[in-house]
Amino acid sequence: MKDHLSQSAKPTLEQMTAELVAPQLPLPHDASSVPIFQTSSFLFDRFEDMAAVFAGESDRYIYSRGNNPTVAELERLIARLEGVDAARGFASGMGAIAAAVLPFVQAGDRGVAVENLYSDAFRLFECVLKKFGVQTDYVDGTDTQAVVDALPGAKLIYLESPTSWSFTTQDLRAIGAAARAQGVISVIDNSWATPLYQRPAEFGIDLIVHAASKYLAGHSDTIAGLVAGPKALIDRINHDSYPYLGGKMSPFDAWLVLRGMRTLHLRMARHAQNGLALGRALSAHPAVTRVRHPAFEANPGNACLSGYGGLFAFDLDASVDIARFANALKVVRIGVSWGGAESLILPAQAALRLSGDANVFRRFDTPAGSVRISAGLEHSDTLVEDLRTAIDEARQ
Ligand SMILES: *Cc1c(COP(=O)(O)O)cnc(C)c1O
Repeated sequence: MKDHLSQSAKPTLEQMTAELVAPQLPLPHDASSVPIFQTSSFLFDRFEDMAAVFAGESDRYIYSRGNNPTVAELERLIARLEGVDAARGFASGMGAIAAAVLPFVQAGDRGVAVENLYSDAFRLFECVLKKFGVQTDYVDGTDTQAVVDALPGAKLIYLESPTSWSFTTQDLRAIGAAARAQGVISVIDNSWATPLYQRPAEFGIDLIVHAASKYLAGHSDTIAGLVAGPKALIDRINHDSYPYLGGKMSPFDAWLVLRGMRTLHLRMARHAQNGLALGRALSAHPAVTRVRHPAFEANPGNACLSGYGGLFAFDLDASVDIARFANALKVVRIGVSWGGAESLILPAQAALRLSGDANVFRRFDTPAGSVRISAGLEHSDTLVEDLRTAIDEARQ
């Protein structure tokens, strides 16, 4: 199998490194890390000071559900990394997704989303938006023409590249251009690649959401989310959803994400390397029928990526007892989530309702032998050995 990594060298990673490793702002008392402003409200000495803020003439802090200096520094950093004007922090990735989508649709509208998207984003569309009269059509994101053909008349296109479980990519440039031409707001979940390895705004995508709980924070110690985009669209979110849904990121969570991001470039390089080493070993194993990773499958959006996340899936054939395989692992642990230092597997058989369930649990493309793996920061030889041994022990 061949790597399909884009050769178009963008110097962005190097340029971004200094901004990642050290806060660029002058900090109080010349602190070297951003302080946690653990305060709910901010005080005014004079009536006129408060009146000026409410009149929009001054942008001082008022209340931390609106703005908080620690959260604001993270918002500034992610906007900078994504190459856009503005960003908003949320209490979770799902909080960010809900707040990014809701301002742009109303009853009677139609949205388009790619198949195989993150399961709770799918359920937001099927359990919440549908109830309020917004219909979502699902298209195969690898079929660029099908995506483009679904756009006329839609209000929003929701992308995830690569998608969860299938890890197929979308041609962001073609879809972004078509969405702009049709006046359709485009939203992408960029949690997997992070802005280091994919900057969707460069391809004409409007809003970028992050489950900061994953790679940005990177230590399995917090839940957080972000939306980044042009000022006009972030203002819509500011005015129409985020203060009222109430899922604002806390100062402490923002601080954990900021701290995690100081090593993002180092961690991502290792996650990518470990993911590729595991992908190569798995694709050479006789019991593995498919490795679902952008480096191992040619798909239209692979050229948008300048590097890889370490999360992917592989399909085991019927000779492998999935429970025995999972239980035989010694280093890799069993668990949901991803993006932390520790490697984790999530077997589809345990985690997904694979058939016969209500529509909201429908999966699109996940066979029973599929296993998702988050390659952590361990030595790649250790991980390869652990997986190989466990598969061999579980074969009958
Ligand atoms: C985890 C995840 C989310 C949701 O993030 P939370 O912080 O758990 O709400 C969104 N998208 C993807 C791709 C994820 O893996």
